[in-house]
Amino acid sequence: MSSVKDYFSNLGSGIVSLFQGLTVTGKEFVTPKITEKYPENRETHKYPERFRAILELIYDEEGKHRCIGCGICERSCPNGTITLQTKMVDTPDGKKKRKLDKYSYDLGSCTFCQLCVTNCPQDAIRFVNDFEQAVFTRSKLVKQLNYLPEPAEPELTPEQKAAIEAERQAKIEAAKKLAAERKAAAEKKAAEEAKDSEQSQNENK
Ligand code: SF4
Ligand code: SF4
Repeated sequence: MSSVKDYFSNLGSGIVSLFQGLTVTGKEFVTPKITEKYPENRETHKYPERFRAILELIYDEEGKHRCIGCGICERSCPNGTITLQTKMVDTPDGKKKRKLDKYSYDLGSCTFCQLCVTNCPQDAIRFVNDFEQAVFTRSKLVKQLNYLPEPAEPELTPEQKAAIEAERQAKIEAAKKLAAERKAAAEKKAAEEAKDSEQSQNENK
């Protein structure tokens, strides 16, 4: 008797379970689909604005970047992902200036922590959401971020040249004056020492 009772009990719970499953299936059947048809939807797909896919050097509309080659991003990176090469160049006003020569970024080792961007004092780099970076060779993941030729240093105006020359002459004059003062002081000291020495010799006689 109890086996018949168990049979109908199990049958009942099986039917309930079946209808529960069919309810879930039916609900999913009428729910709008959210599957992305990539890459067919490449033109229309909206990527999250803050998605970090790859680092880039920010260029303005004149083809200039703001990187000064300070190396803070390189030192901030926990993975050694960034390698900088810099060079010293002569400026038109006769001074030396450090400039970025090569900015290498290894996408394959980047963990997208953004420490480099956060620490850059010039706001020269940023992450963009261009995620289509698949390659067959790992070495191709090493990118040179400064890909545009460096613009030449701007020429000085005649006024700037005149001001620099005036500053140079003023420094020369100041140096000459200082040297003359030092020479006079040394001569005076030597004369006083000679006088003192002569005086002490006279006292000892
Ligand atoms: S990107 Fe920024 S932190 Fe890195 S070297 Fe250039 S200026 Fe310095
Ligand atoms: S995001 Fe992080 S790991 Fe990637 S380059 Fe910047 S500091 Fe290095």
